[in-house]
Amino acid sequence: MKTRGSLIVLSGFAGVGKGTVLKSLFETHEGYAYSVSATTREPRPGEVDGVHYFFISKERFEQMIAGDELLEHACYVGNYYGTPKAYVDRKLEEGFDVILEIEIQGALNIKKKVPEAILIYMLPPSAKTLKERLTGRGTETEEVILKRMKRAAEEAAGVEQYDYIIVNEDADECAQELNCLIRAQRLRASSNMSFIRKIQRDLKELTKEGD
Ligand code: 5GP
Repeated sequence: MKTRGSLIVLSGFAGVGKGTVLKSLFETHEGYAYSVSATTREPRPGEVDGVHYFFISKERFEQMIAGDELLEHACYVGNYYGTPKAYVDRKLEEGFDVILEIEIQGALNIKKKVPEAILIYMLPPSAKTLKERLTGRGTETEEVILKRMKRAAEEAAGVEQYDYIIVNEDADECAQELNCLIRAQRLRASSNMSFIRKIQRDLKELTKEGD
């Protein structure tokens, strides 16, 4: 029985390790599709267009908004970020669990548009670990790190609006936990209505024959 995939929204403070956890998840499990976002920010060293993001101009981004090509979009630390709609729809239809790695404004907009979406927030074991991880990445200036820590403090106020939290102590363990959480969504009664209806119909038929 093939069911439509679940729409999974994963958020977490910058530097919490979402990328590493997702890499581990995709390496160890099948059936996932990762939605590549569009952004107007500059690529970081090592980031590849079409893999990490679609790096586009502000003009092109505004065209995508106007053309209703985005499922959601938000402004984050001075740049636009958004989720292209067509890929997400296609992959859900094909039965993949689609993961959007997006920030809180976008996540809450998705929940309004797609109430059955699952919102998961990844937390660090402590605030101190977050600062250490951001500094250790070595790809941003002190000023940007400070901006991101401030943004983390603001975002922390919204975490209770998510459905689940997962704590990233160890990336591989966190990936296993994430997988269990997502797979469990497939067992929801509301995700299996056509199967439930079939069983109900078949049982009625069989009871009739037994009369
Ligand atoms: P970064 O610049 O560190 O790659 O991403 C900054 C923030 O933007 C992260 O919290 C990331 O999850 C979020 N983000 C990435 N893509 C999207 C998107 O398509 N929509 C929204 N709303 N946020 C996004």
